[in-house]
Amino acid sequence: MNQTAHIAANLAQVRERMAAAARRAGRSVDEITLLAVSKTHPVELIEQALAAGQQNFGENRVEEAWAKFVAPDSPESLASRLKVADRPRLHLIGPIQSRKASLALACRPALIHAVDRLKIADRLDRLAGEAHIVQEVLLEVNVAGEASKFGFSPLELQRDAELILALPHLRVAGLMTIPPYQPDPEAARPHFVALRLLRDQLAQRYPQADWRHLSMGMSHDFETAIEESATIVRVGTAIFGTRNA
Ligand SMILES: *Cc1c(COP(=O)(O)O)cnc(C)c1O
Repeated sequence: MNQTAHIAANLAQVRERMAAAARRAGRSVDEITLLAVSKTHPVELIEQALAAGQQNFGENRVEEAWAKFVAPDSPESLASRLKVADRPRLHLIGPIQSRKASLALACRPALIHAVDRLKIADRLDRLAGEAHIVQEVLLEVNVAGEASKFGFSPLELQRDAELILALPHLRVAGLMTIPPYQPDPEAARPHFVALRLLRDQLAQRYPQADWRHLSMGMSHDFETAIEESATIVRVGTAIFGTRNA
């Protein structure tokens, strides 16, 4: 099998597994977005996924996202290879460093998944205001309370949510999490449940905001995430294969 067929087959298989997980949970698979996480992979593979009907892509490094998807004057970038109507939707899924915030917004991402502290929310809001845009974002939560991880603790989020929701140039659309890696997908389930319950609490307390998205689940645990109400799953390895970098 050549690589094009490979990626199309991988996508079909992931979509099949998503549909089965949705059925088990009594959900419609149409309410779940598959993000193909293309980090470290070349633009050629993204084009193959596009040709197989994949529309939403995730990158975790801002500079790499810019170079592969957006750079207007690079012959390598999708922006210079594709007509506007054929371009995919880019999601930024990694932490945003302060000095990359401006480039992140310049990527015009469909969604920034990992707003993980008040300071970066403030900065993105100010820069979005200067660019006359409103940026849709998710708030990343460290539900497991791991000291080494990015994200708001549930308590910090309860404390800071009101301030973030008041920022005029950010539109919060839900929560995102990355549970501690464990090969057994069942180990992630309590973290997915915790994110959903936190979302439900926030939605009750701040009904003026839109809490529709739960971005959770990766190659090894996306089915569990779907069973626990994920609306966006971020899948890299199961589509593009293992990464070297
Ligand atoms: C790399 C990455 C993924 C995809 O991981 P896989 O295990 O390859 O599916 C998902 N989410 C984030 C935030 C990532 O950085």
